[in-house]
Amino acid sequence: MDPELLAHAEAARGFMPVDEGLALHDAALGVTVDGPFLEVGSYCGKSAVYIGAAARRMDRVLFALDHHRGSEENQAGWKHHEPDLVDPEIAKMDTLPRFRRTIHDAGLEGTVVALVGDSPTVGKAWATPLALLFIDGGHGHEPAHRDYETWVPHVRVGGRLLIHDVFPDPADGGRPPYEIYCRALESDSFREVGATGSLRALERTATGI
Ligand code: SAH
Ligand code: MG
Repeated sequence: MDPELLAHAEAARGFMPVDEGLALHDAALGVTVDGPFLEVGSYCGKSAVYIGAAARRMDRVLFALDHHRGSEENQAGWKHHEPDLVDPEIAKMDTLPRFRRTIHDAGLEGTVVALVGDSPTVGKAWATPLALLFIDGGHGHEPAHRDYETWVPHVRVGGRLLIHDVFPDPADGGRPPYEIYCRALESDSFREVGATGSLRALERTATGI
C-alpha cells in the first residue's frame, strides 16, 4: 500500500487494526471485474482509506455509506462510545465532519464518495452492480442481516464480499457478522479467498444469496 496513504489510514480514528486494513486493501486490489466499490459503515473513514487506496490505483470509485449517527454500540453508555463525536446541540453522534477531514487529508476526495443515509433507505434505490462490497455497519442481528439482504444481491459474479468482525468463537465477539458470513458460504454463491483477524474475504461464484 502507498506509504503515505497507509500513514493516513493508521492515524484515522476508527475500528480497523492495521493487519486487517492491509488485508482489506489487498482484497480490493484482487478484484478483477468492473464496477464501483461500496462500504456499509464508514465511521471516521479509516477503512475507507484502506479500500480507497486500492480504488484510486484501480481507477474505481468507493461509495462510503453511513448515516454518521453511530451504531448502537457507539451510543453513550456503550463500549465503543467516543463523547467528542457527539454534536452537543442535538445530542446525537455526528462522525461526518471527521470522515470528511480524513478523506480530505488523505487526498482521496476524487475517489471516495460519501453516501449519507440509512443503509436500507439508500439500498432500496440502488441499482448499480458492485465489484466489491464491504459490510461493517450495524452489528446487531437485524441490521447485519438486513445489510446482507439489501446489498449482497448487487455484488457481481467474480466480485468480492468482505465482512468485518466475524468471530467464529462467541467468546471473541457478537454473532451477527459471523452469521451473515455463514449465510454467504451456505448460499453456494461464494467461496472464501482470505481471512485475516476478524476480516473475511469472499468471491462470488454464482448469483443468489
Ligand atoms: N469501518 C469503520 C467502522 C464502522 S463502525 C472503520 O474502519 O473504523 C459502524 C458504522 O456503521 C457507524 O459509523 C454507524 O453510524 C454505521 N451504521 C450503523 N447502522 C447504520 C445504518 N442503518 N445505516 C447507515 N450506517 C449505519
Ligand atoms: Mg468493524
